[in-house]
Amino acid sequence: MLYLDNSSTTQIIPEVKDAMLPYLLEEFGNPSSKFYSLAQNSKAAVDMARRNVAQLLGCDSDEVIFTSGATESNNFIIKGVAHYYKDKGNHIVTSRVEHPSVLETCKFLGQNGYNITYLDVDSFGRVNPKDILNIILNDKPILVSIMMGNNELGSLNPIEEIATICKEHNVFFHTDATQAIGKVPLNLCDIDGINFLSCSAHKCHGPKGIGAAIIRKDNLGLPVPITPLLHGGGQERDIRSGTLAVHNIVGMGKAAEIAFKNLDENIEKLEKLESKLVSILKEKFNDNIVFNNDQTKKIPGILSVQFKGINNEVLVRTLAPVMAVSTGSACSSSKPSHVLQAIGLSMEELRSTIRFSLAPTIFLNDLDIFNSL
Ligand code: PMP
Repeated sequence: MLYLDNSSTTQIIPEVKDAMLPYLLEEFGNPSSKFYSLAQNSKAAVDMARRNVAQLLGCDSDEVIFTSGATESNNFIIKGVAHYYKDKGNHIVTSRVEHPSVLETCKFLGQNGYNITYLDVDSFGRVNPKDILNIILNDKPILVSIMMGNNELGSLNPIEEIATICKEHNVFFHTDATQAIGKVPLNLCDIDGINFLSCSAHKCHGPKGIGAAIIRKDNLGLPVPITPLLHGGGQERDIRSGTLAVHNIVGMGKAAEIAFKNLDENIEKLEKLESKLVSILKEKFNDNIVFNNDQTKKIPGILSVQFKGINNEVLVRTLAPVMAVSTGSACSSSKPSHVLQAIGLSMEELRSTIRFSLAPTIFLNDLDIFNSL
């Protein structure tokens, strides 16, 4: 069975599993304990993982806060900014195509006194930075939250432009980079203006249940305060509590280390795989398919394709014995895709769309399976 649902989750690679195992077995110490070697070994492993995540993202280690995943990071950052800066304003700007962990968080805040602007997107799911500028000039928000790359379409937003606008007008900017990391070059040091970033390990061959909230320091090098989501022992810089999941953190660190080392090679592999898949689909289905993606400025390896006149759920189920694909996001699979609706597709087009998402672990020959369909 060929797994082509890597935007939903990825398989842990052997190096990640090998790095994690000792921390599930003999190295079980709590990194927040002190004085004995079991605790110190765990602490050293967490520090190393933090450095590896920081290296992949191009930020400082002390800007990495480990969380349970991108859902928590998005909740933590958006609610944390909203609460901490409520005296400065109640306006938050996001887009219609964000992940539910951003949209539902904003909806919750909207029901609790905040004013949320949901930006429209173009036909490929991208926001227009000019819309953000106009909103800022009209009613200055406390936060702009726009995803780096979309999980259904792969489209990349003009993040640097948005970051510059936000920076110039002194507005906090958060980006959900969950789908982009490890597949798109990213160096936070070079992008002045991203204050917050969310990411998750399981989208780039790390374990599930672990992610990070990146909280960048201000111009003076001081931590930017936000309200914690989880109160307790303050294990993560006093703003995120809970005993650290050392095995998961080590797994995320190893996945980040490998993603950083292989970034160029992985991008090239994904581009080759995508281009082969596009040719196969075009050859086999001719005018019976339509690509919802833009071919440029996208995360390599994500394809959203309409199979005209075919119901996507029936197709996914029919393909299941040979190939794992999805109708869109696994997080909201029971509802019609809000992303495809936002780019203007009809219900019929939406109901015939399938997402293929590739991984660098796939071989070009694996795609020959399409020839036997
Ligand atoms: N944001 C995006 C863009 C995603 O694709 C996902 C996962 N589907 C998430 C956030 C949530 O990530 P996690 O599973 O780590 O909570």
